[in-house]
Amino acid sequence: MGRYWSRLARKLEPYVPGEQPGDGSYIKLNTNENPYGPSPKVLDAVRRAAGENLRLYPDPTCDAFISAVAERYGVKKDQVFAGNGSDEVLAFSFMAFFDPDRTIVFPEITYSFYPVYAQLFGLDYATVPLDPGFNIRPELMKSSGGVVIANPNAPTGRALPLSAIRSILDGNPEAVVIVDEAYVDFGGESAVGLINEYPNLLVIHTFSKSRALAGMRIGLAFGDSGLIRAIERIKNSFNSYTMDRLALTAGIAALEDEEYYRDVIGRIIKTREWFTAELRKRGFSVPDSSANFVFASHSRVHAGELYHRLRENRILVRYFKKPQIDNHLRITIGTDEEMRTVVEVLDRIL
Ligand SMILES: *Cc1c(COP(=O)(O)O)cnc(C)c1O
Repeated sequence: MGRYWSRLARKLEPYVPGEQPGDGSYIKLNTNENPYGPSPKVLDAVRRAAGENLRLYPDPTCDAFISAVAERYGVKKDQVFAGNGSDEVLAFSFMAFFDPDRTIVFPEITYSFYPVYAQLFGLDYATVPLDPGFNIRPELMKSSGGVVIANPNAPTGRALPLSAIRSILDGNPEAVVIVDEAYVDFGGESAVGLINEYPNLLVIHTFSKSRALAGMRIGLAFGDSGLIRAIERIKNSFNSYTMDRLALTAGIAALEDEEYYRDVIGRIIKTREWFTAELRKRGFSVPDSSANFVFASHSRVHAGELYHRLRENRILVRYFKKPQIDNHLRITIGTDEEMRTVVEVLDRIL
């Protein structure tokens, strides 16, 4: 502990992201990145944007990007906030909508950044158990302080139907409900279409997963214009330029190549279904996933051991040493070839 640290810095327990090894010799299935590159049109646009005008600050309002998002999603510009990755958009949203004296709730098993933000901002939180099939129980997601869910959820891959999202919104009219749709393009039902009906709904998207732009850091929030204004107030009290010129350019170009992304997403879903079946044949229990990863537990070999053995074979997956899920692996869906290698290596290990 540093001598000069603030009380806040001393007490934090920061989020630990999945490893990013520098040497590229791993099959990397630990951070839910897209195994296919971004659209070639995105790469062209970024190359063209990397020029002399990088000396100029980017547009602090992200206007051109937000216009493209509004058009693509059929919403109004003042219903969109754009930021530097959805983690940052989530952090701003926690600051914009939650108060220290009102308990927020999220599922017991979910994205592990939520408790980290709660701690950073001094918020009280309670967690709600999942059902035995790892599904979020909508009837228990209730709090006058705020509700946060990921749909599809991480690291389980399980998705709630839109009817369940509606019931959560109806049950919490006095609080903001944040629905983090990081994985929605891989099989979930998006709640973006509900923002006109529910002034308390905030939907978070990222370009890191389905749009293969984790390296650019692009995130969005969709909601009633009143909610968006609150997030803008937080952002403009923190950093006027959270999205840089290259990220804004990449974001616009990605929205213009829907065909490319539809194809990539289709391939990942197909590979996921194949891989899930192969795991089940080998004694794994795997809930059906609506995301670009699967959540798997073996009947005989402990997940901690599998994690280490895969790592020795240059395959990185995510292992959470946490109550209830410490016998599960979260395995990102890579290319067909990568997943065939995983199955071969598992056959040797088991
Ligand atoms: C990956 C992920 C994010 C973070 O996305 P970035 O835009 O890369 O910050 C947010 N929420 C969930 C549930 C995720 O899995």
